[in-house]
Amino acid sequence: MSLENIKSKVRDVYDFPQKGIVFKDLTTVFKDKECLHELSQDLSAMYVDKGITKVVGIESRGFIMGPIIANNIGAGFVPMRKPGKLPAETWVESYEKEYGVDTIEIHKDALDENDVVLLHDDLLATGGTMLAAYKLVKRFNPKKVYVNFVVELEFLKGRNLFPEEVEVEALIKY
Ligand code: AMP
Repeated sequence: MSLENIKSKVRDVYDFPQKGIVFKDLTTVFKDKECLHELSQDLSAMYVDKGITKVVGIESRGFIMGPIIANNIGAGFVPMRKPGKLPAETWVESYEKEYGVDTIEIHKDALDENDVVLLHDDLLATGGTMLAAYKLVKRFNPKKVYVNFVVELEFLKGRNLFPEEVEVEALIKY
């Protein structure tokens, strides 16, 4: 199983969720046991020697590989969720989307300054979502923050939003 093989399993869905968007559907990758295993191995190998203590996954597609990576590299998993879903006290960050504003939250006691954090989501498009997530994580003043995606849409240049010192990595690029 090669990366090209995994890439060939990504399904393009046209005009979802709205006209003009080509949605990269990873459910066709995740349902294949060999692809899932390869993704699990490859993503974990990128971070196994970085001293990561917590993997933070962004709701909801960051909840698929996030916990798998965390378990493989011996880290904990922290969910970053949509508003009103987390039960205890949260920090909140809002960000502009193409239409309107979105918000994400994290528990105030989820991380601390001793953590080395891996932020994970399935796909990097414009980068707005991950930048908001990065800002939320930085509030805890962790030792270091890594940013990871399964897929990057390079032509949207989302990675340019992040400060130069942040290592932004994706396994599959378009
Ligand atoms: P962005 O904030 O523009 O980087 O968008 C990232 C979020 O939207 C991720 O959580 C993705 O799951 C989702 N997303 C945006 N564009 C696409 C796309 N073309 N295909 C699949 N997911 C997308």
